[in-house]
Amino acid sequence: MTQNDTLIHPGQKYHSGEFPMQKQEAPGLQSRMKPVPDCGEKSYQGHGRLAGRKALITGGDSGIGRAVAIAFAREGAQVAINYLTEEQPDADSLASLLRDEGKELTMLPGDLREAQTCRRIVEEAHRALGGLDILVLNAGVQQAATDITEITEEQVERTFRVNVYAPLFMAQAAVPLLPSGASIVITASAEYYTPNKLLLDYAASKSAVTAFGVALSKYLLEKGVRVNSVCPGPTWTPLEVSGGNPDEDIPRHGVDTPLNRAAQPAEMAGIYVFLASDEASYITGEIYGITGGLSGK
Ligand code: NAD
Ligand code: MG
Repeated sequence: MTQNDTLIHPGQKYHSGEFPMQKQEAPGLQSRMKPVPDCGEKSYQGHGRLAGRKALITGGDSGIGRAVAIAFAREGAQVAINYLTEEQPDADSLASLLRDEGKELTMLPGDLREAQTCRRIVEEAHRALGGLDILVLNAGVQQAATDITEITEEQVERTFRVNVYAPLFMAQAAVPLLPSGASIVITASAEYYTPNKLLLDYAASKSAVTAFGVALSKYLLEKGVRVNSVCPGPTWTPLEVSGGNPDEDIPRHGVDTPLNRAAQPAEMAGIYVFLASDEASYITGEIYGITGGLSGK
């Protein structure tokens, strides 16, 4: 029997051990992170699994959304991303990466805290792509608080507007535009399985959006649109170094998971491709963990 030397222990496949101490203002830029997150820029290989599909990805400039955007584009989909104007440098670097591969990225900046903006982004994506059949509701905010009295009304409002209201209003705008066979994928969180005492409002918002995803899957069954959620564990992204963790916890991000390391966004992309594709035709209303073993802990 020959040894397959491309196989590697999953705990060692990406950066393991501690990260350098670092801090940014939210929403943060991934180009300024050390190390820069791996979104599959060099590794993701497409196989035409989304040929001809038209996808809108929120929070597509960085982190998990960027990894999904790279994967979708290399699988043959036309891709539009939404992000905040402060994140233009990350969005530009993604556009330039894809342009070098002969792929055009539609860039739709806008703050999803407003329902009106949610509707505008969906309509603009539909117009620019000439249709819409994949919606990835991935934008999110996370601010850690070691003391419950630190949590302001403004923080709770932002958390719920971005993490819960925006997916609802975007889905509302998309429903009349999505054809039968379309797919919606929501980025929830491992907070759904193992809520963290430092993330009270965030954990609540991610359970809420997970329930929303299951309810929406039932609502859209007759129309033939599938809806599923992905629950990532600790992943190396700007969200985590811009208030998502207490500063002193950033170096050990992910170290306490069963695989003893954080995920890289590149490790998330495959499940989004699968759920968006027609290979997942019998899959709706499901909740997928990518947690390094955390959900079974
Ligand atoms: P990220 O910072 O790269 O992505 C979050 C994105 O949300 C930003 O790029 C930004 O474009 C968008 N966003 C934030 N506020 C917005 C607003 N008001 N309007 C429009 N867009 C806004 O970090 P990420 O970790 O890749 O986050 C993507 C998703 O993954 C989020 O929903 C997050 O909650 C979820 N998640 C992350 C982790 C993790 O450990 N990083 C774990 C579980 C779930
Ligand atoms: Mg970003």
